[in-house]
Amino acid sequence: MSVDRVLAVVIEHDHGETKPVSLEVLSAARKLADQISGKVVAFCFCREANLSGDLFIRHGADEVRFLTHPDLQHYIHENYVSALLRELEKSAFDYLLLPATNNGKELSAVLSARLGVGVAADCISISVNDGDVEAVRPVSAGKAHSTVRFTGKKPHILSLRPNVFRNPPIARQGEIVEEAIQLPEFSQRVRELVKQVGSQLDVTEARIVVSGGLGMQGPENFKLLEELAEVLGGAVGASRPVVDNGWRDYSNQVGQTGRTVSPDLYIACGISGAVQHLAGMSSSRCIVAINSDPNAAIFSVADYGIVGDALKIIPALTREFKKVLTS
Ligand SMILES: Cc1cc2nc3c(=O)[nH]c(=O)nc-3n(C[C@H](O)[C@H](O)[C@H](O)COP(=O)(O)OP(=O)(O)OC[C@H]3O[C@@H](n4cnc5c(N)ncnc54)[C@H](O)[C@@H]3O)c2cc1C
Repeated sequence: MSVDRVLAVVIEHDHGETKPVSLEVLSAARKLADQISGKVVAFCFCREANLSGDLFIRHGADEVRFLTHPDLQHYIHENYVSALLRELEKSAFDYLLLPATNNGKELSAVLSARLGVGVAADCISISVNDGDVEAVRPVSAGKAHSTVRFTGKKPHILSLRPNVFRNPPIARQGEIVEEAIQLPEFSQRVRELVKQVGSQLDVTEARIVVSGGLGMQGPENFKLLEELAEVLGGAVGASRPVVDNGWRDYSNQVGQTGRTVSPDLYIACGISGAVQHLAGMSSSRCIVAINSDPNAAIFSVADYGIVGDALKIIPALTREFKKVLTS
């Protein structure tokens, strides 16, 4: 097969596990590569090659490069940038795709500045038009979408929104290489990364998000949301005033100045539906709103609305889901 263009994908991993969003990025790259006679190279920077290269191939990689160094056990952007720049100098890439996670966004911004190339952040769709790759990304706090076409110096960088580009794996062949690399003397090392207990699931990566607003009345009632999220295998989100009040950590905040989420199911509990909140969750596949005010703005974006007291409805939902999911 003749290869016209080469796409690089950066794999994100945490505590020895591949982040599911990396598999989404790989399959999006595969789809694109199939339309432009492209080849997909997956870069996995790690201390040792202990992740499944076959999994990356099944999700779309033609070649998996495990690049190992003791200081690459955890993500530190200086180390990743050094390692990536070295790879981009060695071979020419047309596109560089990363997850639009905190790390992926940081890495794409730094690389874009260092290489003087364009970046399309938080893409929700990518396609090929007249042989050129086009990316669609939300702008103006999600109120509009812009279509980006790349010109100029390569590689063109795209970060892809989690939970949008899911495709099942398929049986494929590919090549896996492993190479110990050098990093500059100043490379930084994290001695130990402590994982926060009780909030393992990142709100941007969860397929189900149960979010609470001021209507939850107080921090103690977020226990109800945690119980529902646990039964559903989801994560807990929050509106900004909830975070400003110190009821929840900032990492939970959904909205214009918080995280952008696109889960399969978003349950908004006691959230009024201000535009700044909608900016972070309106692309969810299914939205359920629970609010005591039948005129709350959140109902205008909801697929299902429940008018009533969230503090009574949430435990009832948890009980029912438990029954259904365990039967
Ligand atoms: C520059 C800027 C950036 C912002 N960024 C964000 C952001 O990132 N994320 C964000 O969320 N906000 C953001 N905001 C704030 C935003 O404008 C709203 O103030 C905020 O989203 C409202 O939060 P809320 O829905 O929890 O509270 P409220 O607007 O006070 O709504 C509470 C809701 O709970 C309902 N309720 C009350 N009691 C119950 C009950 N027992 N059961 C069920 N429902 C009940 C009420 O009817 C009401 O609809 C931003 C604002 C600005 C100016």
